[in-house]
Amino acid sequence: MKVFNEIEACYGAVRDVQRRGGRVGLVPTMGALHEGHVSLIEAARRRSDSVAVTIFVNPTQFGPNEDFEKYPSDTEADLAACEASGADIVFTPSVETLYPRGFETTIHVSGLTEGLCGAHRPGHFDGVTTIVAKLLNILPADAAFFGEKDYQQLLVIRRMVRDLNLPVEIVACPIVREKDGLACSSRNRYLSPSERSQAAVLSRALFSARDRIAAGHKRVKELVARIRAEILAAGPAKIDYVEIVDAETLDSLTEVDRPARIVLAARIGPCRLIDNVAVKE
Ligand code: AMP
Repeated sequence: MKVFNEIEACYGAVRDVQRRGGRVGLVPTMGALHEGHVSLIEAARRRSDSVAVTIFVNPTQFGPNEDFEKYPSDTEADLAACEASGADIVFTPSVETLYPRGFETTIHVSGLTEGLCGAHRPGHFDGVTTIVAKLLNILPADAAFFGEKDYQQLLVIRRMVRDLNLPVEIVACPIVREKDGLACSSRNRYLSPSERSQAAVLSRALFSARDRIAAGHKRVKELVARIRAEILAAGPAKIDYVEIVDAETLDSLTEVDRPARIVLAARIGPCRLIDNVAVKE
């Protein structure tokens, strides 16, 4: 496994693999790696000759009152996890390397970025699309792997890739969960033991709504009200949103009558947690 901090050397390593006829799979991350990230690296391993992982906490996707300064970082453990899960190339650039003085460009996807996390985190998706486009230029992989955990992000990236004709395949990977259902997240480590057990209510509420939909319930208002009530009954939480949206367009539904996602974001203790589940697939 080779670790790079500099752009040119990293680009050269990817191109070397491709010149020899190999396919490169890219897994962009912000580090503090967990089982969710490992599943992406393993998926990339299965579908590529060489796997590249990026570890970069991207400042432009954090709002002024968000947790950029406190975002967890453990490079040594991350490199060990990359090595153990089969990464060949790891890119760990500094902020100055990716955003040198005078940086002035932003990629903005409209429409899909307006609701859900986009509405609660202004500018967040501009930061995401801009950094992902940069990473795809620095590591011009054949395929890039993203988790369904960040479902809106996945759709936004797919749209950018399609709209800008970026020559990369976007591969979606399923959500990896802890034993009690909580979606793995780098931020979970900041939950106290009681907040941690409370947080399992998020997936529990999603799964019970999915079961109700499978049993024939369709009315979004009632389904959402029940999810909200279940979350609030488990302890103090601030719900940013609970919605049932079209799985492709993210448009809000009033009836669950097509492939959809139940999506939510809630703050428990110090953490803003997101989760989602597919329904009517
Ligand atoms: P992050 O480091 O949080 O920016 O995430 C990097 C990538 O890992 C993104 O594509 C995420 O969607 C994905 N990811 C994060 N958590 C999970 C999870 N629990 N299951 C699957 N993928 C995940």
